[in-house]
Amino acid sequence: MTFIRRLLSPEPVEPSEPYFLLCSGCLKPCSGDNAHAIPQWNSVREDFLTTYRCGVCWKRALEETRAKIRVLDAEVREKFCRFLDRHGFSDAHIVMEASLTEASRMMEKVLDAIESEKLRLSP
Ligand SMILES: [Zn+2]
Repeated sequence: MTFIRRLLSPEPVEPSEPYFLLCSGCLKPCSGDNAHAIPQWNSVREDFLTTYRCGVCWKRALEETRAKIRVLDAEVREKFCRFLDRHGFSDAHIVMEASLTEASRMMEKVLDAIESEKLRLSP
C-alpha cells in the first residue's frame, strides 16, 4: 500500500534557490526576482541582445532600446525581428512585412508590454 501511495504521490517540489544576476548597466548583483530581461542594442555585435538589468536601471535601458527602434532603419528592424524570433514570437514576420513606420509602432508595442511587465522574456 505504501508502495502504491508513493508511486501515485507527486514528486516533492524543490523550492527554487534564490539566484543572483549581474546587472549589465550598473554592474551590481541583483536578485533573479528583481532582474529584468530586456532587448538591448549592442553596438559591437550590431544586434539586439537579451540583457539583464536591475530594478533601478531597466527602464532607462528600455528607453535606449526605444530610441534605437525609432530610427526607422530596415536593418535595425530586421535585427529586432530576429530577436523576437529567438524568443519564440511567431508573429515577427508581420513586423517584417509592415512599412517601417508601422513596424516601429509594433516594436514599440512589444516594448510597452515588456515595460508594463505583461510580457516577460525568458532568459
Ligand atoms: Zn543596474
